[in-house]
Amino acid sequence: MKFISTRGGEKVSAAQAIVAGLSANGGLYVPEKFPAVPREELEEMLGMSYPERAAKVLGKYLSEYDSKELLKACEDAYSRFEGGDPAPLVRLDDGVYMLELWHGPTCAFKDMALTLLPWLLRKGCDICGVKEQILVLVATSGDTGKAALEGFKDADGVKIMVFYPSDGVSKMQKLQMCTQEGKNVNVVAVKGNFDDCQTAVKEIFADGNYAAQLKERNTVLSSANSINFGRLAPQIAYYFSAYLDLVSSEQIEMGEEIDFTVPTGNFGNILAAYYAKQMGLPVRRLHCASNSNKILTDFLATGVYDLHREFYKTTSPSMDILVSSNLERLVFEVSGRNAKLTASRMEDLKKNGKYAISADELEKIQQTFDGGYADEESSVEAMYDVFIDVGYTMDTHTGCAMKVAVDWFEKHKKDETNMVIVSTANPYKFPQDVLYAVTGNDVKDSFKGIKRLHAATAMAVPKCLLNLRDKPLRFTKSVDAKNLFAEVLDFVK
Ligand SMILES: *Cc1c(COP(=O)(O)O)cnc(C)c1O
Repeated sequence: MKFISTRGGEKVSAAQAIVAGLSANGGLYVPEKFPAVPREELEEMLGMSYPERAAKVLGKYLSEYDSKELLKACEDAYSRFEGGDPAPLVRLDDGVYMLELWHGPTCAFKDMALTLLPWLLRKGCDICGVKEQILVLVATSGDTGKAALEGFKDADGVKIMVFYPSDGVSKMQKLQMCTQEGKNVNVVAVKGNFDDCQTAVKEIFADGNYAAQLKERNTVLSSANSINFGRLAPQIAYYFSAYLDLVSSEQIEMGEEIDFTVPTGNFGNILAAYYAKQMGLPVRRLHCASNSNKILTDFLATGVYDLHREFYKTTSPSMDILVSSNLERLVFEVSGRNAKLTASRMEDLKKNGKYAISADELEKIQQTFDGGYADEESSVEAMYDVFIDVGYTMDTHTGCAMKVAVDWFEKHKKDETNMVIVSTANPYKFPQDVLYAVTGNDVKDSFKGIKRLHAATAMAVPKCLLNLRDKPLRFTKSVDAKNLFAEVLDFVK
């Protein structure tokens, strides 16, 4: 399978796409075509374990990777998850399920891809004959940073550097990152919000002069953000797995279509669901859930992507994003894979903060997608209602998705399609906000929040969060967005 960039240029192999992260012209790599998973193969996958299903889906894209090695890598990655099943489905009500993707080492769904990405990257370097040291640069809205640090710590031939917005991550997320262990890791706060941080990191990737300076230091850049196809690919697998679990447990018939509601920030998670649909998974609709930063809700309704709006800091920080990078891949698809048009739209976005798609393109998108959002009050209410009604506790991001799903149910009372709501973080990652949602209690301290949340819900507290209290802070530096490259050079010297 070859890969092309959304903004044109040469075809590359899967390994090259993963090692580079982003194409030289700033475009995102997408598969030349979507590989199909026919009905017979879906039937075969019913009896498989999660790692086997994942290796099967990934193998369709990563043709130069050895399939036995890939399976072994998936087994290793998913053995780091607690409880046996890395992506369990929990039934909330008739036809309503939660897909819990947070049983990995850092308690967020990013682990689904970032436990595997280091292997994909290392192997990709071997396949491409890359001899230099790899420097993985990450811009994080909170959860990617920790999952990437944990995935790459002490990996041979790789250094990892994480940038997070100084005023845009939760206290738990910050503690998780700033106490990170490992010889090859660095964490730096960037003054501003996530968009400032992500834009500055993207500029480092796009600048040939920077690349040359790094090359002199025997270093090449790669990305662990969801713009990297190596992040996207493992995420496609859990949509297949959730579907197969519903069939195996006789909740649906093979071939019956289902819906997913996905809490969305950078559009990576929900895009993976779209890729699964393109591969033939019986998916009807995808409901894109946002918080008060509802740029995607507006785009999915109007076809206009407009950055001229207020930016809100919310209790679902991993969705506090206005420049939603992976949307470029969807816009590219519905343009009829028109790279020139996609490039000019992204140029418009950069220059004028805005672009629009045509009515035809919007219609194509709306055949599958719709968007909704939850403000702070309504996400709290959705979390509270589910807790009271069925005793299920969810995190703040999943709370936004819950609200959007409930709105859909209310508008479509006769709709009998099964709904899977994607649950993206362990509630203990946001203990004070979740405690407030389910009990109305406000506490100032995160660890006190954990204790009280445990008392209220009796849910097990993950060790990796509880241990943070006693770990020394290793990283405390905060810099201006314009000075990031100096930090990078200092780290690789
Ligand atoms: C990253 C993240 C999201 C958003 O996922 P995208 O792939 O960026 O759309 C939602 N919830 C949580 C908890 C996250 O960590």
